[in-house]
Amino acid sequence: MSQRNAYLVINAGSSSLKFCVFQGSDAADLEVAFTGQISGIGTQQARFEAKDAHRHPLASVALSQSDRAALLGYLLDWIGGQLNGSVLVAAGHRVVHGGTRFSAPVRVTPAVLDQLEELIPLAPLHEPHNIAAIRALAESYPQLPQVACFDTAFHQTQPWQSQTFAIPRALTAEGVRRYGFHGLSYEYIAHQLPRVAPELADARVLVCHLGSGASLCAMAAGRSVDTTMGFTALDGVPMGTRPGSIDPGVLIYLMREKGLGVDEIETLLYHKSGMLGVSGISNDMRELEGSDAPEAAEAVELFCHGVAKQGAALAASMGGLDAVVFTAGVGENSAQVRSRVAERLEWLGVRLDPAANRAKATRISAADSRVPVFVIPTNEEQMIARHTIACLSTPSR
Ligand code: ADP
Repeated sequence: MSQRNAYLVINAGSSSLKFCVFQGSDAADLEVAFTGQISGIGTQQARFEAKDAHRHPLASVALSQSDRAALLGYLLDWIGGQLNGSVLVAAGHRVVHGGTRFSAPVRVTPAVLDQLEELIPLAPLHEPHNIAAIRALAESYPQLPQVACFDTAFHQTQPWQSQTFAIPRALTAEGVRRYGFHGLSYEYIAHQLPRVAPELADARVLVCHLGSGASLCAMAAGRSVDTTMGFTALDGVPMGTRPGSIDPGVLIYLMREKGLGVDEIETLLYHKSGMLGVSGISNDMRELEGSDAPEAAEAVELFCHGVAKQGAALAASMGGLDAVVFTAGVGENSAQVRSRVAERLEWLGVRLDPAANRAKATRISAADSRVPVFVIPTNEEQMIARHTIACLSTPSR
């Protein structure tokens, strides 16, 4: 009988760390064993919560530890007590930025960690936390192989026009260019879509990853051709608390006329804009859809307008549109957003079947829609687990 392995997938943020443990003997038979998170990292109120594969609570504990290494130690001990005979063989991490160097997942070594450190200026709000989790695990569990999977890697196939800002070449050469994010989600969709619709394996597909962070990807034959996020995860469509594309002149105005400094601008752009800024109510699409306030309606309108407008721009990058996929929290769950985006793309051949859309069917387009439209739940954690297995079985990577 083959050994049942367990794989730990980690998505580490500034104050929280989400995890998912998969069990299986290979990439084809992976099953979620449990998921959870540690919140309040670095505070006196750290908390550990875990659920089983059916989302039944397994643990909800206040922890006295506050530093990351101790909390990871708690997590690994807890996992060890739950594995029921299977063996934890590796950890895979979501790492936000791979720069130009990493176009594929990589097994972590001390040299790789140093190279990741060099990328911190490109993603100062996220990369340090990703690296801290990897380092903490490497120090406490040096025998546990770790794999870094990058949100940027999937977009490395883009043509140079999609990656380049119209700025002086020297800046581009330094790495001031478009990278794109949500790559693990898009890669998962690239694998799933041909299973749902094999005839679309070579198609030009607009994938709409609409969550609290939102972006769109132009995907041709399963490869990224263009995307709405750029140098950072601020660009593109309006999001929960980020504005999406904004005239850079606005930032010059805020600095010169309002005296805003870098930190204030960063806070404004990452935490106070988007749906929250426009509505003044919430960054959460469910709340906005349930609100009677005109400001909430305007926020949803701006969101749908932005998604359709930039979706059409991505169709131009692909030279046409053969299919649309909606995914992530809003894309998977909001029939209203899907329908309002689709209405605006009708001139490109998109028409929904309202009943299928309300029922969240996999295929939600009308029978006579030239462009088929799908709802496909994303699964970035599973993509990371698969990459981790693949990386470990390829010694040269
Ligand atoms: P992230 O992973 O970026 O934090 P998610 O992909 O989980 O975000 O998406 C979160 C968003 O999905 C929130 O704005 C939430 O309101 C929205 N969402 C979840 N369920 C629904 C629903 N039933 N209707 C509308 N929006 C929903």
